[in-house]
Order: sequence, then structure tokens, then C-alpha cells
Amino acid sequence: MAKKKKNPVEVYQMVCGSCHSRNYVASLKRENKSLEVSKFCPTERKHTLHKAKKA
Ligand SMILES: [Zn+2]
Repeated sequence: MAKKKKNPVEVYQMVCGSCHSRNYVASLKRENKSLEVSKFCPTERKHTLHKAKKA
């Protein structure tokens, strides 16, 4: 008996656009098209633009 997957979660890694550190993991809905978020980068210790990349 095969179980149906229910609501597969799209997992993304939030990559710093400035130093390319993978600082966060986020699960985003497909409707959410804002894949660039300003987040705190612990490497640079400031807010930078993070891009969501699929894990
Ligand atoms: Zn950074």
C-alpha cells in the first residue's frame, strides 16, 4: 500500500547575496514569489539580501 504524500514542503536555503553563506532554511509556499528577503547575516553581522535557493 503506497501512501500518498500530503502537501510536500518546498524547502529552500536562504543564501546571503553578499557573502553566499547559507544562513537560513525556509519552507516557502509556491505562491510566495518573494524569493529575496532582507535578513540578518551572522557572518557579516548586518542585514543583507538573502536569496532563496532550493535545497
Ligand atoms: Zn553575508
